[in-house]
This record gives sequence, structure tokens and C-alpha cells, in this order.
Amino acid sequence: MKPVQVNSPRTGEGRPVDAVPGIFSKQGRYRRKPAAGTPVSLLLTFALSFLPVLALTACGHDAATAPPRDNSPAGIGDTVKDAAKPSTGNGGQSDPAAPGDDAAAAKPDAAALFDALALSTDVRESFLHGPKPHECQKYLVLHDTEGTSDPWSVINWWDGNGAGIASHFVIGTDGNVVQAVPLDMIAHHAGFGDAGHNALYGVEDESRDDRVGTTPIGGAFPDYGMNSWSIGIELVHVGGSGFYPEEQLAALDGLIAAIDAYYGFESVIIDHKAWRSGNSDTSPEFAAFLANYQQYRRHLP
Ligand SMILES: [Zn+2]
Repeated sequence: MKPVQVNSPRTGEGRPVDAVPGIFSKQGRYRRKPAAGTPVSLLLTFALSFLPVLALTACGHDAATAPPRDNSPAGIGDTVKDAAKPSTGNGGQSDPAAPGDDAAAAKPDAAALFDALALSTDVRESFLHGPKPHECQKYLVLHDTEGTSDPWSVINWWDGNGAGIASHFVIGTDGNVVQAVPLDMIAHHAGFGDAGHNALYGVEDESRDDRVGTTPIGGAFPDYGMNSWSIGIELVHVGGSGFYPEEQLAALDGLIAAIDAYYGFESVIIDHKAWRSGNSDTSPEFAAFLANYQQYRRHLP
């Protein structure tokens, strides 16, 4: 895979990042789908055309059993919004639903679902830890931030911390959703898990993850495969402080629906403490909601 130029919104300087089908715009926003005809878009087309092969190599999946791919060019929020505009569409590559095809017509696409969220993006270069192809997705890992700061402050803190830690999304108590890592990149949100959890969860500790900033914690937590196979979602919440606001849970409902539509299958929903026992998040007051998410993919049945 050839590297793609990615420009930092902080420094304005670019650096090549392997297998990132996108660039940062002049406004500092990461855009997965550049204008047609540019070398990057040609590379994206080339990369997508070989996706099953890449997945076979990178993820060890049998391409024949790989989950179906959504045609949406989604990757992050503002690209999704652009894709929802009639002027961009999907390049006419997919067949329009046949008239009277109620099943197809009733199923919202990823672009529309992302567009329905109060979603913004704040991608930082330090959060990007390697390629995460479509076929390398199995889990949605839910976290609490264990703080009251809004999503933008959380992202600033992560970037300043220097450990390269981030989740793909942070959801504020008011329902604002901020995306810090594109869906097709590995984020360091799950860290090390219990011994045997790589096998239990069917994840591998692969070379796709650059592990920059990672420090083993040893002891009973040697396994490190979850980041390469999951999307991390942080809820602004302090454990023990009470229930989660309806606006925040409604945003999580919508985000999960959008991610499901993007991948074309339902990822398994777990919380962070399932991966690493003894971890604090999610908090006990989320337990009933977690059960509902796992059964209904919403916080209420
Ligand atoms: Zn966590």
C-alpha cells in the first residue's frame, strides 16, 4: 500500500500515512473523499477495488465470508454529510432501488444516519495508529471519560497527554458527538486486556497497530488485540454520578445505527471493563442500558 499525504490541522505540515484514504482540508478537517480526479481519489478507488485482498492479508479473514460492504463513502462525519448531497452521490456505481422495493427504500443509509447526528470532527495526527480495513471490524467498545469535560476538551487533553490515546467518538452530555479518529484507522482506546481475551474475543494482536505510545501493564493483562478490531466510543460521564442524560443516550443510539449502516452488519457491543476486568468503565448505572444496547442496539427497548 502506498502512503497517502495527511496534513496535520495543528501544524499544517504533511506526512505520509499508510492506507489513509483521505486528507485534511485547509480548514483542518479530515476529508476521506477528495475531489474527483485527484491522485488521492484515484488511489482510493484503487485501494477499494482490492479491499478483499487487503483484508485477507491484513486481517486473516476469508474474503468470501467478509461482511457486506456499504456503498456509502462514509468514514467521518463531514464527508458523510457531503455524500448525502445529491451533487456527490456515489458516482453512479450502485444500482438504484427498484420502484416499489420497500425494503431497500425503508433502510436509511449511513450518510443519512451520520447526517442526523450533531456530529463534528476533530482528528489529531497523534491519534492515528494504523489502517483498519472494513473487514477488520468486530466490536463497538463503550467507555466513560470519568470526567465532566466536554468532548472537545477531552480531545485536547488526549492530544496534549502524549500517549496517543483516543477513541473514535466522544459523546457529550448534551448529545454532541465529536469524531477524533476516522473509522478506517486504529485508535488506542481499549489497551491491554485480560489474559486469554484475544482468543475469547477472536481478535489478534497484529502489526497493523503501530503501538506508538503504548506501554504494557503486565500482570494479568497481557492481551492486546482489541484496538485493531474495534471502534471506541466515549461517553462523557463520571461513574457513580447518576444516570446518563437522554440526549446523550439518544446520540449513542443514532451513532450506533450509523456505524452499523456504514459497515453493513451489527458489530458486537461491549464495554471497556468486559475487555479488561476491574476497569471502571462503563459505570454501574449504565448496566441496564448496556443490556438494551446489546439486545436492541438502543438504550431502551
Ligand atoms: Zn475506557
